[in-house]
Amino acid sequence: MTATVPAAAITGPDGPVQRRAIAKAITLLESTRGDHRATADALLTELLPHTGRSFRLGISGVPGVGKSTFIEALGLHLIARGHRVAVLAIDPSSSVSGGSILGDKTRMEHLSVHPQAYIRPSPASGTLGGVAAKTRESMLVCEAAGYDVVIVETVGVGQSETAVAGMTDMFVLMQLPNAGDDLRAIKKGVMELADLVVINKADIDADAATRAPGADHQRDAHPRPARARRSTRQCAAVAAGSAAAQCTEGRRPERFWSAVTRFRQLQEAGGRLADRRKQQSLAWMWERIESGLKQAFRHNAQVQALLPRLTRDVEQGRVAASTAARQLLALCHPGLDPGSSP
Ligand code: GDP
Repeated sequence: MTATVPAAAITGPDGPVQRRAIAKAITLLESTRGDHRATADALLTELLPHTGRSFRLGISGVPGVGKSTFIEALGLHLIARGHRVAVLAIDPSSSVSGGSILGDKTRMEHLSVHPQAYIRPSPASGTLGGVAAKTRESMLVCEAAGYDVVIVETVGVGQSETAVAGMTDMFVLMQLPNAGDDLRAIKKGVMELADLVVINKADIDADAATRAPGADHQRDAHPRPARARRSTRQCAAVAAGSAAAQCTEGRRPERFWSAVTRFRQLQEAGGRLADRRKQQSLAWMWERIESGLKQAFRHNAQVQALLPRLTRDVEQGRVAASTAARQLLALCHPGLDPGSSP
């Protein structure tokens, strides 16, 4: 792989040359080699003035809720109205299984071959933090290439929603019509992140929805009795603490997009969009600092030598956890006392 990608090829006219440059840039960003990282940082710095002009949309939901069907319909709808659409995925399962739920080639079959769309699944390895870091940077590359709608998709498990909500202008949660109170309670933390809740598959009855492939409910040994058939209008939208709550159906992208547009106008008018992005950038910087420090700590030779013994001492109650932490930290940062104020 060539480690250099000219920024001008990314910011230049769209077409095969630009697509190749985007793909190479993202591969460069995904590389863990130190020299590649330095080149990637230089490229990002060059691209940065060309970023920030897209709308960043996060979409999350359990496998089978209909995300790819929805994004395909939405993407084609937007392209028909003159937009250019990029879809990036964060797949927390990929770091565990080595495969990718979101990387399936058959997903979004029309959108994936459209010249005005760019779709990139998440890398098939790495920690969630690492995968999220690459997605965030890939988003900047797509923006610099003129994609004015960037969709970041994630499977609704674990902390990936927090990562996506932390890098997008609007975070949308997709749910099945019968994702009842139990599920809502479990996912309360996620509900609080949501700017919009889409009740998908509102065209089918609650019973059928529980049989959706991969739906969380399948694991429920005692599913709730089927509810009455619901129409889209009857769906209850629940978006605790959100600025915009709207119930809509995944197969009708025009309704969804008008809700997105209203939300965006509200955010932009009050200067909240700019604030949200600023806060996200700073939170991201600190997240990266913390993860970098942790990595440096774990790679420190003295720490590696002492850690096994201290781990046993803490396990067996011979050394207090805080004392062990202090001793280990002092190896990396002499004079540092994590218990005291600076
Ligand atoms: P994902 O795993 O969240 O990306 O879900 P998919 O988009 O792959 O959809 C899973 C299944 O649900 C597929 O068989 C779709 O055809 C179906 N599906 C998606 N949206 C709807 C909908 O609005 N109504 C109905 N009845 N089925 C849908």
